[in-house]
Amino acid sequence: MQQPEPTFPHRLTVLGSTGSIGTSTVDVINQLGGRDRFEVMALTGAGNIALLAEQARALGAKLAVTSQDDNYQELREALAGTGIDVASGRSGLREAASMSADWVMAAIAGTPGLEPTLIAAQRGANIALANKECLVSAGDVFIRTVAEGGGTLIPVDSEHSAIFQCLEPANKANVERIVLTASGGPFRTFTREQMAGVTADIARAHPNWSMGLKVSIGSASMFNKALEMIEAKYLFDLRPDQIEVIIHPQSIIHSMVAYTDGSVIAQLGCPDMRTAIAYALTYPSRGEIDVERLDFAKLARLDFEAPDESRFPALRLARTALERGGAQGAVLNAADETAFHAFVEGRIGFLDMADIVETVMDRINDGRSAETIEDVLAADAQARQYADDVIQRMQQAA
Ligand code: MG
Repeated sequence: MQQPEPTFPHRLTVLGSTGSIGTSTVDVINQLGGRDRFEVMALTGAGNIALLAEQARALGAKLAVTSQDDNYQELREALAGTGIDVASGRSGLREAASMSADWVMAAIAGTPGLEPTLIAAQRGANIALANKECLVSAGDVFIRTVAEGGGTLIPVDSEHSAIFQCLEPANKANVERIVLTASGGPFRTFTREQMAGVTADIARAHPNWSMGLKVSIGSASMFNKALEMIEAKYLFDLRPDQIEVIIHPQSIIHSMVAYTDGSVIAQLGCPDMRTAIAYALTYPSRGEIDVERLDFAKLARLDFEAPDESRFPALRLARTALERGGAQGAVLNAADETAFHAFVEGRIGFLDMADIVETVMDRINDGRSAETIEDVLAADAQARQYADDVIQRMQQAA
């Protein structure tokens, strides 16, 4: 039987094309036909201007944006004579998000990714979501914006892509729980005493996935999994008690959905973000992507263990944030980001990160909501300031 031609989106924009997810996205776009198949509207980056310019030329992008105004001139020179428009800063990111792409990869890390992703969602683009803050900090606002815009939200985080693939829309009411898998990171078997002395260089070495620095450190502390628990709540409309985390060191099962009849559906694959990216780009079809295939005979076994929340308090803090609701996700996220920077700069120890987040969450535990973007940004700013205060006190005491 003749297969119908898959219905891939036509006009694409990649917000954050030079980072870890962004470069994988560009690779997937090329594997699926590149500029012959897709019309690339905008690409955005930050400091890696040579790569951004190279991507924009190769894909024939209409617009290239650097988020850093200081890099505007360099980008302009790199693209002189190509006919590719150039912009920079916050207004440049807004312009990129506003262009008429029907598929937008949201891969700008951190809070700066929030505004452009909301703009793209508002005008009804289908959003491939790699940025975590949109859901962790601004879940209520973001989900409402996507619904109002009328686009489809397709998660790109490997765990949420797995759940999205395992969720049967007709049986949503019979989902008992979801099971997020976690590799356990490089310190899975470490004692708290061993963790106390680690540096950022040791913490960034992930056993299975190659990722950006924030996700690597978050994987070591399990704050990445904490953010993913909160993401899952908003993406799949779950209660806190329906979100389970299990350590699975091989990272082959990317996550699972358990139904009320005892059935559990899992999504498996080699740890390579390009599979989740391709799924988001080709959904509801599938494309052909050159990634390593699973070889079950070689694999031989899959291991699981319950996470130890006394060694990885991030999981307990995520559950607290889920139960408290409101702006606690934004507070957890902002405190975590502040603590992460202080750790990478060598100003605090590895275990201090969770202590800081917990202190800040308790201090801003006043039942405030996060119904508007202003609520979210106010909670975010206050949490960062409190986290800075706590870090300063820790440094003075040390
Ligand atoms: Mg993940």
